[in-house]
Amino acid sequence: MTKINYKYIKVDIERNPRPDGRSKIPEHTDVMEKHLKRYLDIDELIHHINGNKRDNRLENLCLCKDNKFHGNIHASLIKIAYRLVESSIIKFDREINEYYAHLPIEYK
Ligand SMILES: [Zn+2]
Repeated sequence: MTKINYKYIKVDIERNPRPDGRSKIPEHTDVMEKHLKRYLDIDELIHHINGNKRDNRLENLCLCKDNKFHGNIHASLIKIAYRLVESSIIKFDREINEYYAHLPIEYK
């Protein structure tokens, strides 16, 4: 059974017992553990490459060894985003104080 819990999809675990005792884990954890054929270590976490935390296809997941590793991934994205601001591909709307994509084609 799949249950929506906040922004992540959670799944019931039939594998028993887990080392951490949980009976429900996020779907991305389940997908990665099945891929690795082992449980995640306590410090390991999963990054969603396209930013969609409900897209748990393996190709959208990146195993991070710890929070610092994960933080570096996000920092690299922000660095690229600022370069796109410099290139005017991303612009800043001073009325609503938000960034927006300034693309030649329609986007959603
Ligand atoms: Zn992330």
